[in-house]
Amino acid sequence: MVTKLKPPTSHTALVRRARRMNRELADLYPDAHCELDFTSPLELLVATILSAQCTDKRVNMVTPVLFARYRSAADYASADREDVEKIIMSTGFFRAKTNSIIGLGQALCERHGGEVPNKLSELVKLPGVGRKTANVVLGNAFGVPGITVDTHFGRLAHRFGWTTVDDPVKIETEVGALIPRSEWTMLSHRLIWHGRRVCHSRRPACGACAVAALCPSYGEGPTDPAVAAKLVKPGPFS
Ligand code: SF4
Repeated sequence: MVTKLKPPTSHTALVRRARRMNRELADLYPDAHCELDFTSPLELLVATILSAQCTDKRVNMVTPVLFARYRSAADYASADREDVEKIIMSTGFFRAKTNSIIGLGQALCERHGGEVPNKLSELVKLPGVGRKTANVVLGNAFGVPGITVDTHFGRLAHRFGWTTVDDPVKIETEVGALIPRSEWTMLSHRLIWHGRRVCHSRRPACGACAVAALCPSYGEGPTDPAVAAKLVKPGPFS
């Protein structure tokens, strides 16, 4: 039986618990990965822009057509706006996303010789690219460790007691101080996977949660194993 945890008595205790949770999640999701389909940094950058307010599954349905037609930054820079809008329409906010993608192609050609830069400071200056998108690309296309604070990551970091702040950059800093840098990208995948599958926003499946014994928010959702098991969404989400 799981009992509710007391808050850690020191920063060291918090670090120890956070690292243990990360290890347990690694065992639970050994194949956690970015659920967007891509074969190059440019494809991942475009797919991540399209994923705003949209599921990865939906994005993966439109990108094969988009990537077959637009293969380089120069292709996006000179793209026919209506054509792009038509292809990506089902991902929502398609006019704004089309602006971002065409602007992205132009900026890459003008400033980076058509290549995607591998530095956070340069990525965040590109149209449609915020810190979250930049960290996704750094971590998954360039192997540079990055923490991706999306809605799932932020929610779980709070529930785990890893942070009390809401600002994504501060969450990134606070969680980064708990977990070794080499683990940041995989940690992001694990929290996002757990958030999608078990630790849902409204009714987390606490009674079916593998990290319940380490989680200070155990009991926020149903603890009855049979009830909780029905809340678990097995995935895949791509
Ligand atoms: S499902 Fe419940 S026990 Fe598991 S991480 Fe979320 S809040 Fe904690």
